[in-house]
Amino acid sequence: MLSETLGRGERIVFFGGAGVSTESGIPDFRSGDGLYSRSGDTRYTPEEVLSHSFFVRHTAEFYAYYRSHLLHPHARPNPAHLALARLEEQGRLTAVITQNIDGLHQAAGSRTVLELHGSVHRNSCLRCGAPVSLDAILATDGVPTCACGGVIKPDVVLYEEPLDAAVMESAIEHLARADTLVVGGTSLVVYPAAGLVHYFGGHELVLINAEPTALDHLATLVVHAPIGETLGAAVP
Ligand code: NAD
Repeated sequence: MLSETLGRGERIVFFGGAGVSTESGIPDFRSGDGLYSRSGDTRYTPEEVLSHSFFVRHTAEFYAYYRSHLLHPHARPNPAHLALARLEEQGRLTAVITQNIDGLHQAAGSRTVLELHGSVHRNSCLRCGAPVSLDAILATDGVPTCACGGVIKPDVVLYEEPLDAAVMESAIEHLARADTLVVGGTSLVVYPAAGLVHYFGGHELVLINAEPTALDHLATLVVHAPIGETLGAAVP
Protein backbone atom coordinates (compact mmCIF):
# COMPACT_ATOMS: atom_id res chain seq x y z
CA MET A 1 0.00 0.00 0.00
CA LEU A 2 2.74 2.50 0.94
CA SER A 3 4.92 1.42 -1.98
CA GLU A 4 1.94 1.92 -4.33
CA THR A 5 1.23 5.39 -2.96
CA LEU A 6 4.89 6.37 -3.30
CA GLY A 7 5.01 4.76 -6.76
CA ARG A 8 2.17 7.04 -7.92
CA GLY A 9 3.75 10.20 -6.50
CA GLU A 10 5.33 12.62 -8.95
CA ARG A 11 6.03 15.51 -6.55
CA ILE A 12 6.55 13.90 -3.15
CA VAL A 13 7.65 15.99 -0.17
CA PHE A 14 8.89 14.45 3.06
CA PHE A 15 8.44 16.27 6.36
CA GLY A 16 10.23 14.68 9.28
CA GLY A 17 11.59 14.98 12.76
CA ALA A 18 13.80 13.38 15.35
CA GLY A 19 12.14 9.94 14.96
CA VAL A 20 13.79 9.64 11.52
CA SER A 21 17.19 9.41 13.19
CA THR A 22 16.45 7.16 16.19
CA GLU A 23 17.32 4.09 14.07
CA SER A 24 20.72 5.75 13.57
CA GLY A 25 21.19 5.78 17.34
CA ILE A 26 20.27 9.44 17.95
CA PRO A 27 17.62 9.78 20.68
CA ASP A 28 14.55 11.89 19.93
CA PHE A 29 12.96 14.22 22.47
CA ARG A 30 9.57 12.76 23.31
CA SER A 31 9.75 8.95 22.99
CA GLY A 32 9.81 6.91 26.21
CA ASP A 33 13.63 6.79 26.09
CA GLY A 34 13.95 10.23 24.47
CA LEU A 35 15.99 13.10 25.85
CA TYR A 36 13.06 14.55 27.78
CA SER A 37 12.84 11.50 30.01
CA ARG A 38 16.59 11.00 30.51
CA SER A 39 18.10 12.13 33.72
CA GLY A 40 20.47 15.04 33.45
CA ASP A 41 20.75 18.26 35.33
CA THR A 42 17.33 18.25 36.97
CA ARG A 43 17.53 21.98 37.73
CA TYR A 44 16.59 22.72 34.13
CA THR A 45 14.23 21.26 31.54
CA PRO A 46 15.63 20.53 28.05
CA GLU A 47 13.52 23.43 26.70
CA GLU A 48 15.23 25.80 29.15
CA VAL A 49 18.74 24.56 28.35
CA LEU A 50 18.08 24.72 24.60
CA SER A 51 16.79 28.31 24.73
CA HIS A 52 18.47 31.45 23.49
CA SER A 53 18.43 33.14 26.90
CA PHE A 54 20.05 30.07 28.53
CA PHE A 55 22.76 30.05 25.85
CA VAL A 56 23.53 33.70 26.64
CA ARG A 57 23.43 33.39 30.46
CA HIS A 58 24.81 29.88 31.01
CA THR A 59 26.96 29.20 27.95
CA ALA A 60 29.14 26.57 29.66
CA GLU A 61 26.11 24.54 30.87
CA PHE A 62 24.53 24.87 27.42
CA TYR A 63 27.63 23.41 25.77
CA ALA A 64 27.92 20.60 28.32
CA TYR A 65 24.34 19.50 27.44
CA TYR A 66 24.75 20.14 23.72
CA ARG A 67 27.96 18.15 23.48
CA SER A 68 26.67 15.15 25.42
CA HIS A 69 23.11 15.01 24.01
CA LEU A 70 22.92 16.65 20.59
CA LEU A 71 26.27 15.92 18.94
CA HIS A 72 26.46 12.42 17.43
CA PRO A 73 29.38 12.61 15.01
CA HIS A 74 29.53 8.84 14.49
CA ALA A 75 25.84 8.38 13.56
CA ARG A 76 25.23 7.13 10.03
CA PRO A 77 22.15 7.34 7.76
CA ASN A 78 19.60 4.56 8.26
CA PRO A 79 17.23 2.99 5.70
CA ALA A 80 14.78 5.92 6.04
CA HIS A 81 17.39 8.52 5.03
CA LEU A 82 18.61 6.25 2.21
CA ALA A 83 15.09 5.55 0.86
CA LEU A 84 14.32 9.30 0.71
CA ALA A 85 17.58 9.93 -1.17
CA ARG A 86 16.57 7.19 -3.64
CA LEU A 87 13.15 8.80 -4.19
CA GLU A 88 14.83 12.11 -5.01
CA GLU A 89 17.31 10.35 -7.30
CA GLN A 90 14.35 8.75 -9.12
CA GLY A 91 12.94 12.25 -9.72
CA ARG A 92 9.83 11.69 -7.61
CA LEU A 93 10.69 13.57 -4.41
CA THR A 94 11.23 17.33 -4.61
CA ALA A 95 12.34 18.10 -1.04
CA VAL A 96 13.04 16.78 2.42
CA ILE A 97 11.85 19.25 5.05
CA THR A 98 13.40 18.33 8.38
CA GLN A 99 13.34 19.51 11.95
CA ASN A 100 16.54 17.55 12.52
CA ILE A 101 19.91 19.17 12.98
CA ASP A 102 22.08 16.08 12.43
CA GLY A 103 22.87 16.34 8.70
CA LEU A 104 22.04 12.66 8.06
CA HIS A 105 19.79 13.36 5.04
CA GLN A 106 22.71 15.01 3.23
CA ALA A 107 25.00 12.18 4.36
CA ALA A 108 22.55 9.75 2.70
CA GLY A 109 22.73 11.68 -0.58
CA SER A 110 19.62 13.91 -0.42
CA ARG A 111 20.26 17.20 -2.19
CA THR A 112 17.23 19.38 -1.48
CA VAL A 113 17.10 19.37 2.31
CA LEU A 114 15.36 22.24 4.08
CA GLU A 115 16.65 22.34 7.65
CA LEU A 116 14.03 24.22 9.64
CA HIS A 117 16.04 24.10 12.85
CA GLY A 118 19.53 24.53 11.40
CA SER A 119 22.44 22.12 11.61
CA VAL A 120 25.18 21.11 14.02
CA HIS A 121 27.50 21.12 11.00
CA ARG A 122 27.39 24.93 10.74
CA ASN A 123 28.69 27.17 13.51
CA SER A 124 29.92 30.73 13.60
CA CYS A 125 31.61 33.28 15.82
CA LEU A 126 29.15 35.66 17.45
CA ARG A 127 31.71 38.49 17.28
CA CYS A 128 33.34 38.31 13.83
CA GLY A 129 30.99 35.90 12.05
CA ALA A 130 33.76 33.46 11.03
CA PRO A 131 32.38 30.03 10.10
CA VAL A 132 33.51 27.09 12.24
CA SER A 133 33.25 23.39 11.36
CA LEU A 134 31.77 20.69 13.55
CA ASP A 135 35.22 19.06 13.66
CA ALA A 136 36.64 22.25 15.17
CA ILE A 137 33.91 22.22 17.84
CA LEU A 138 34.60 18.55 18.59
CA ALA A 139 38.32 19.26 18.93
CA THR A 140 37.66 21.58 21.88
CA ASP A 141 36.17 21.22 25.36
CA GLY A 142 33.81 23.57 27.11
CA VAL A 143 32.76 26.80 25.38
CA PRO A 144 34.40 27.04 21.94
CA THR A 145 35.86 30.43 21.12
CA CYS A 146 37.19 32.04 17.97
CA ALA A 147 40.71 33.38 17.41
CA CYS A 148 39.17 36.86 17.81
CA GLY A 149 37.96 35.92 21.30
CA GLY A 150 34.27 35.70 20.40
CA VAL A 151 32.03 32.85 21.53
CA ILE A 152 31.04 30.36 18.81
CA LYS A 153 27.36 29.50 18.44
CA PRO A 154 25.96 26.51 16.57
CA ASP A 155 23.61 27.37 13.71
CA VAL A 156 20.74 25.54 15.39
CA VAL A 157 17.47 27.29 16.11
CA LEU A 158 17.07 27.49 19.88
CA TYR A 159 13.78 28.03 21.68
CA GLU A 160 12.95 31.80 21.58
CA GLU A 161 14.71 32.14 18.21
CA PRO A 162 12.88 32.66 14.91
CA LEU A 163 13.05 30.19 12.04
CA ASP A 164 14.91 31.24 8.90
CA ALA A 165 12.35 33.03 6.70
CA ALA A 166 13.87 31.86 3.40
CA VAL A 167 13.85 28.21 4.52
CA MET A 168 10.22 28.53 5.66
CA GLU A 169 9.20 30.12 2.35
CA SER A 170 10.88 27.41 0.33
CA ALA A 171 9.24 24.72 2.48
CA ILE A 172 5.82 26.29 1.92
CA GLU A 173 6.38 26.43 -1.85
CA HIS A 174 7.39 22.75 -1.99
CA LEU A 175 4.39 21.75 0.14
CA ALA A 176 1.93 23.78 -1.92
CA ARG A 177 3.11 22.10 -5.16
CA ALA A 178 3.38 18.56 -3.77
CA ASP A 179 0.98 15.80 -4.80
CA THR A 180 2.06 13.50 -1.94
CA LEU A 181 3.22 14.42 1.55
CA VAL A 182 4.92 11.87 3.75
CA VAL A 183 5.16 12.97 7.39
CA GLY A 184 7.34 10.79 9.58
CA GLY A 185 9.15 10.51 12.88
CA THR A 186 7.71 13.64 14.38
CA SER A 187 5.37 14.21 17.29
CA LEU A 188 4.08 17.31 15.43
CA VAL A 189 4.04 19.38 18.60
CA VAL A 190 6.91 21.80 17.91
CA TYR A 191 5.59 24.99 16.30
CA PRO A 192 5.87 26.78 13.95
CA ALA A 193 7.49 23.81 12.15
CA ALA A 194 4.54 21.44 12.68
CA GLY A 195 2.11 24.03 11.27
CA LEU A 196 3.81 23.78 7.87
CA VAL A 197 1.93 20.56 7.15
CA HIS A 198 -1.22 22.65 6.62
CA TYR A 199 0.30 24.22 3.49
CA PHE A 200 0.17 20.85 1.71
CA GLY A 201 -1.87 21.28 -1.46
CA GLY A 202 -2.09 17.64 -2.65
CA HIS A 203 -4.28 14.66 -1.81
CA GLU A 204 -2.08 11.83 -0.53
CA LEU A 205 -1.02 12.43 3.08
CA VAL A 206 0.98 9.55 4.56
CA LEU A 207 1.87 9.51 8.26
CA ILE A 208 4.58 7.16 9.49
CA ASN A 209 5.22 7.36 13.21
CA ALA A 210 5.85 4.95 16.04
CA GLU A 211 2.87 6.34 17.94
CA PRO A 212 -0.32 8.22 16.99
CA THR A 213 -0.13 11.95 16.23
CA ALA A 214 -2.74 14.71 16.23
CA LEU A 215 -2.89 14.60 12.41
CA ASP A 216 -3.55 10.87 11.96
CA HIS A 217 -7.23 11.59 11.23
CA LEU A 218 -6.30 13.72 8.18
CA ALA A 219 -4.08 11.09 6.59
CA THR A 220 -4.98 8.87 3.64
CA LEU A 221 -2.54 6.27 5.00
CA VAL A 222 -1.27 5.86 8.58
CA VAL A 223 1.60 3.52 9.48
CA HIS A 224 2.52 3.04 13.13
CA ALA A 225 5.90 1.34 12.75
CA PRO A 226 9.63 2.16 12.67
CA ILE A 227 10.21 4.53 9.76
CA GLY A 228 13.54 3.07 8.66
CA GLU A 229 12.10 -0.41 8.22
CA THR A 230 8.92 0.99 6.65
CA LEU A 231 10.47 3.32 4.05
CA GLY A 232 13.37 0.98 3.41
CA ALA A 233 10.93 -1.76 2.38
CA ALA A 234 8.61 0.55 0.40
CA VAL A 235 11.19 2.26 -1.85
CA PRO A 236 13.09 -0.05 -4.20
P1 NAD B 1 9.93 14.41 18.99
O1 NAD B 1 10.95 13.79 19.86
O2 NAD B 1 8.98 15.38 19.58
O3 NAD B 1 9.04 13.26 18.32
C1 NAD B 1 9.60 12.16 17.69
C2 NAD B 1 8.47 11.26 17.22
O4 NAD B 1 9.06 10.23 16.44
C3 NAD B 1 7.69 10.59 18.35
O5 NAD B 1 6.31 10.74 18.10
C4 NAD B 1 8.14 9.12 18.27
O6 NAD B 1 7.08 8.25 18.58
C5 NAD B 1 8.51 8.98 16.83
N1 NAD B 1 9.56 8.01 16.56
C6 NAD B 1 10.70 7.77 17.28
N2 NAD B 1 11.46 6.84 16.67
C7 NAD B 1 10.76 6.45 15.56
C8 NAD B 1 11.02 5.52 14.52
N3 NAD B 1 12.13 4.79 14.47
N4 NAD B 1 10.08 5.40 13.55
C9 NAD B 1 8.93 6.12 13.56
N5 NAD B 1 8.64 7.02 14.53
C10 NAD B 1 9.56 7.19 15.50
O7 NAD B 1 10.70 15.06 17.76
P2 NAD B 1 10.26 16.22 16.74
O8 NAD B 1 8.83 16.12 16.44
O9 NAD B 1 11.27 16.20 15.67
O10 NAD B 1 10.42 17.60 17.54
C11 NAD B 1 11.38 17.88 18.48
C12 NAD B 1 12.63 18.65 18.09
O11 NAD B 1 13.66 17.75 18.30
C13 NAD B 1 12.89 19.11 16.73
O12 NAD B 1 12.82 20.48 16.73
C14 NAD B 1 14.35 18.72 16.42
O13 NAD B 1 15.11 19.86 16.08
C15 NAD B 1 14.86 18.21 17.71
N6 NAD B 1 15.76 17.05 17.73
C16 NAD B 1 16.50 16.70 16.65
C17 NAD B 1 17.31 15.56 16.69
C18 NAD B 1 18.12 15.21 15.49
O14 NAD B 1 18.60 16.09 14.78
N7 NAD B 1 18.28 13.91 15.20
C19 NAD B 1 17.33 14.76 17.84
C20 NAD B 1 16.57 15.15 18.94
C21 NAD B 1 15.77 16.29 18.87
